[in-house]
Amino acid sequence: MKIVVLIKEVPDTWGERRLDLETGLTDRAGAAAVLDEIGERAVEAALAYADAHAGTEVVVVAMAPASATATVRKALAMGATSAVHVVDDSLRGADLVLTAEVLAAAIRRTGFDLVIAGNLSTDGGGGVLPAMVAELLAVPQLTALSRLEVSDDAVSGDRVSDAGTMRVSAALPAVVSITEAMPEGRFTTFKGIMAAKKKPYETVDAAELGVEVEDPAVARYIMLSVDERPPRAGGTKIVDEGDAGEKLAAFLVAEGVA
Ligand SMILES: Cc1cc2nc3c(=O)[nH]c(=O)nc-3n(C[C@H](O)[C@H](O)[C@H](O)COP(=O)(O)OP(=O)(O)OC[C@H]3O[C@@H](n4cnc5c(N)ncnc54)[C@H](O)[C@@H]3O)c2cc1C
Repeated sequence: MKIVVLIKEVPDTWGERRLDLETGLTDRAGAAAVLDEIGERAVEAALAYADAHAGTEVVVVAMAPASATATVRKALAMGATSAVHVVDDSLRGADLVLTAEVLAAAIRRTGFDLVIAGNLSTDGGGGVLPAMVAELLAVPQLTALSRLEVSDDAVSGDRVSDAGTMRVSAALPAVVSITEAMPEGRFTTFKGIMAAKKKPYETVDAAELGVEVEDPAVARYIMLSVDERPPRAGGTKIVDEGDAGEKLAAFLVAEGVA
């Protein structure tokens, strides 16, 4: 079984995140870069299967700036077998379609039985990449799984929605995306960090993957402008002087809530 895990480097969720207002891209200099937590969970899902099934290969694939090496190596330190890092400055500002084309090409080149991705990255938050990749690879996709089960020829799991829980299944090869309900990523050990330094780590660019970044035949989105979110205004404070109930009711009526 060959499992490809899609991992993304993101600005640390706990740090201050900023957009570069010139480019509309993440200000990478402004915050520590980390492996997206949902990506850690996706790696964990693959490793949990590999732990129980000898001979499983777990390949992590990331499209990220050259500076993301330490983040990709973290997945190797967790236990992934090898890494493919797509590094190409012409992909800076890539939209979802171009990112999906690049990742699908990298996955096709690597070969796969199963692709595991997060359902939504914590910075870009497009939430559609796994579906686009599945479409380009012409394989089924199971979305937003909170439980994952892999057999020799199929993948299944639970998909929780507001209305209930669906049990879904697809034949392999397939793409799945997982949610934060899946187990957290394991800690890296010193032994794992040392072992990661010797694991296969391939860097490729778009041309090597056969992707034409400036293809005029493909529609790309264009960012017209970007504005920083305005600072939050302080809320209304109601001080109880024996009439808090009345004040609260008046406030709700004024806000159109009641
Ligand atoms: C030089 C360079 C600079 C970049 N700068 C930025 C930036 O400033 N801001 C930004 O958001 N993105 C940046 N990217 C990455 C890329 O443009 C986005 O990953 C892409 O648009 C996906 O958007 P999303 O996170 O909203 O996808 P979603 O659909 O929300 O992601 C869902 C899942 O798809 C997978 N996935 C998403 N993106 C990647 C990826 N790049 N590699 C591997 N797996 C992935 C993960 O499993 C993720 O959990 C950059 C890439 C390069 C090469």
